[in-house]
Amino acid sequence: MSDSFLDTCCAIVGDGHVLADVAGMEPFLTDWRGRFTGRARAVLRPGSVEEVAALVRACAAAQVPIVPQGGRTGLVLGSVPDASGEAVVLSLARLNRIRAVDPANRTMTVDAGCLLQQVQETAAVHGCLFPLSLASEGSCTIGGNLSTNAGGTAVLRYGNARDLCLGLEVVTPSGEVWDGLRGLRKDNTGYSLRDLFVGAEGTLGVITAAVLKLYPQPRGSATALVALASPEAALGLLSRLQDECGAGLTAFELVSDLCMQLVARHFPALPQPFRAPSPYYALVDVESSESQEHATQLLEHSLGAALAEDASLEAVVPSSVGQARDLWRLREHIPLAQAAEGKNIKHDISLPVSLIPAFIRDTAAELQLGFPGCQLVCFGHLGDGNLHFNVAPPPGGVDEDFLVHQHAVNRIVHDSVAAHGGSISAEHGIGALKRGELERYKPPVELDMMRAIKAALDPLGIMNPGKIL
Ligand code: FAD
Repeated sequence: MSDSFLDTCCAIVGDGHVLADVAGMEPFLTDWRGRFTGRARAVLRPGSVEEVAALVRACAAAQVPIVPQGGRTGLVLGSVPDASGEAVVLSLARLNRIRAVDPANRTMTVDAGCLLQQVQETAAVHGCLFPLSLASEGSCTIGGNLSTNAGGTAVLRYGNARDLCLGLEVVTPSGEVWDGLRGLRKDNTGYSLRDLFVGAEGTLGVITAAVLKLYPQPRGSATALVALASPEAALGLLSRLQDECGAGLTAFELVSDLCMQLVARHFPALPQPFRAPSPYYALVDVESSESQEHATQLLEHSLGAALAEDASLEAVVPSSVGQARDLWRLREHIPLAQAAEGKNIKHDISLPVSLIPAFIRDTAAELQLGFPGCQLVCFGHLGDGNLHFNVAPPPGGVDEDFLVHQHAVNRIVHDSVAAHGGSISAEHGIGALKRGELERYKPPVELDMMRAIKAALDPLGIMNPGKIL
């Protein structure tokens, strides 16, 4: 049976780039963690911004919902379609050209489907640094990074995706192309539309290209793992290192002892730097624009002063790049180790940095009251106030028996986040997964403004419906 909508799509991108058979669409329909598989009318794979615009116009004319998709590494079900089978998936993967590099302006203009790693490598070829860094960088795309306002490990020094973007090219929900590819660090000419599309999770339009900020490559870096008695001690150390190292402090990660135990259990080949366990650890990175010696001195000097002041601190400072890499591998293996251990209830939250010790203490106590013996898999980017605050069953407990309490656990954690002035999503966004939670915690006036923006830009409601709002 002929489908005139799909015929129009084929005429725009060619038959080979309209996938409508079950086998062809299958890789595009399941989320990264394998929790949900949606259905779609077709998967469309445009190769240029003109093709994206023509496809969006065809979708608008036929009122077909569009789910933009980059690398599909998102963690909140934002880039997969719902179960209705009405939407098309618009994959940006073929838009993968580096359009231009301007080392003197320290900018790079790239297609939205470029992989993050491809962008990092291109920057390095030109002697520059693109500092966004995520464990998914080999699979995620710049369009996805901007649409989720991704964070990662160097936010403390360089900011998140929004801070690294100067301009955008966007196909609007009516199929017009907005060329906002400006490489300007100052541009006060009215509303910042760029900032509206960043973090919009594909609900306001399709990002097709971006101007990204580049930085000089650091000439030296130094890493340390510090054993700590408590989150308060971590906060004290963070404050001291910020005072001493200034912008040189690029990462400050908090890791609880349970995380270290899980990594040791599931990845025994990774070296464990301390003989005796400590309740918490901080993984710290310092960079220098001068030299390797300067980075090492900066870290050793500031850590030395902290250790002299607090005798309970213990630090490991690697003497080689390989050893430093091993410390980061411990941190990077936490998500894998917790997955190998079993299921848990995940929270990606942010708080004012100063309130993190109180939040951990208060929330852990409430969780123990409600679910005695439950375990906290707590780690994250303390320097950015961002914690992965995951709640696992008591030792020996059955995952499924515990997961039925997800709603009640979320309520304890997210109510506590709200009471401490935090956010229920620091990095991953809202997608389809946290819509209900957004409704509960955003002030009604803020939700009304968001709905008004959505209605103004996407009156037909075809851009990624069911996500965020
Ligand atoms: P997708 O998953 O394809 O899409 C994400 C959202 O953006 C969807 O709503 C989609 O509709 C929309 N979208 C995608 N492309 C476009 C476009 N061109 N125009 C408009 N909308 C679009 N996130 C962090 O912030 N920090 C981390 O440290 C981090 N670590 C991770 C580690 C692992 C192992 C994994 C699997 C994920 C991690 N993530 C992290 C989450 C994820 O990688 C990021 O959200 C990433 O930015 C998503 O990029 P993507 O290309 O895969 O987007």
